[in-house]
Amino acid sequence: MKHYDVIILGAGASGLMCAAQLRQNSSLSVALIEGNTRPALKLKASGGGKCNLTNVEVDESHYLGDETLIKSALSNFTQRELLDYFRSGGLRPVIRKERYYFCPKSSDEIISILMGKADGCDLLLGHKILSLEGQNPFILTTDKGRFQASRVVVATGGASYKELGSSDIGLRIAQSYGIQTVPFSPALVGLTLQPKEFWMKELSGISCRARIHVAGKTLDEDLLFAHKGISGLVVLSASLYWHRGEIVIDFVPDFDVSRLKNEKKAISTAIPLPKRFMKAFLDAIGLEDKGCNRLNPQEFEKLLTIRNYAMAPSGTFGLSKAEACRGGVACGEINPSTMECTKIDGLYFIGETVDVTGELGGYNFQWAFSSAVVCAKAIGSMSFKRK
Ligand SMILES: Cc1cc2nc3c(=O)[nH]c(=O)nc-3n(C[C@H](O)[C@H](O)[C@H](O)COP(=O)(O)OP(=O)(O)OC[C@H]3O[C@@H](n4cnc5c(N)ncnc54)[C@H](O)[C@@H]3O)c2cc1C
Repeated sequence: MKHYDVIILGAGASGLMCAAQLRQNSSLSVALIEGNTRPALKLKASGGGKCNLTNVEVDESHYLGDETLIKSALSNFTQRELLDYFRSGGLRPVIRKERYYFCPKSSDEIISILMGKADGCDLLLGHKILSLEGQNPFILTTDKGRFQASRVVVATGGASYKELGSSDIGLRIAQSYGIQTVPFSPALVGLTLQPKEFWMKELSGISCRARIHVAGKTLDEDLLFAHKGISGLVVLSASLYWHRGEIVIDFVPDFDVSRLKNEKKAISTAIPLPKRFMKAFLDAIGLEDKGCNRLNPQEFEKLLTIRNYAMAPSGTFGLSKAEACRGGVACGEINPSTMECTKIDGLYFIGETVDVTGELGGYNFQWAFSSAVVCAKAIGSMSFKRK
């Protein structure tokens, strides 16, 4: 059975970064095990094929998970260090909407930089991971054979978008070692509607800027009405914090509706939203589309609900449509300085396998890369030279 110093499970964002860092900064023998016949399929598909790799504003407030663990990773490999790292490989990231860093051409640019830096690892593609047993050495069983390692990094990600190779093997491995886990559930996903909000289904394809208040968070971005419910960047981020109960939507965050009291124009003309939306909204709240100055005080109050429309989604579009997962290996099981599991020496968890999830906007890749760097630094610490 072939023995490696380190075996990394999963050649996605975090696994590739961990391998690249270990290859560049240590002389350890490293194997990367991947079920797909190509590495990093999720990364390739991300950001509409142009990978939103990080955000201009990165801190723990954009994540769900243990603050100490998140802070530790983000400060060990900051957004600036991440950008410098990829710039050194030739990437020229572009900023969209003054917030999001994307690849200028394609996500393949990131993959090829990481693959180049990980050169020298044994990349074993098409190897489905079945189980991990033992300790010192660990024994890995795949559908193509067994391998031994002194240390194992679990980087198998979350369970959403199964067609890209995802599985819950990371959780199953943790559970087999008695490590506490939180079940995976969909995050960064559209929200479905209760019958009271079915009027929104008629608006499929329309989008507008919106502000959503959910579980003490306020999020601003585009909202998209979809056939199944509501989606768009603001809804995907809101879904991270929504469990059950109400969210409150401000459909005109940049417009002062209260100043329309003396406005002669019809409501649907005076409010800067698509006419189709205004008609459907006014129908839904039982208000006639008339001159704003003809609204009595109660009617005007009703109109103001456009700034704080409370609704309780019925659920989400599901794991198959979720861009990330909540849940994973419980944060309390991980040493923030090393990403090593506190119960099992030599076993590490990084990326989406850990119970840390970011909002939409590059936060999940930042976490995947930062947690990978912490882990690689810890593993290679004896021979680690900062580059
Ligand atoms: C459509 C889509 C778009 C996204 N866009 C963005 C974006 O623009 N910005 C952002 O920050 N985040 C985005 N995300 C989220 C981001 O892709 C993930 O959070 C990130 O890839 C997690 O990295 P990871 O290394 O933990 O897991 P992954 O990148 O998912 O890597 C895990 C790897 O493990 C392999 N694996 C799993 N199970 C097994 C098994 N049993 N045997 C062998 N191999 C296995 C998988 O094939 C995969 O290659 C997007 C997600 C999706 C689905």
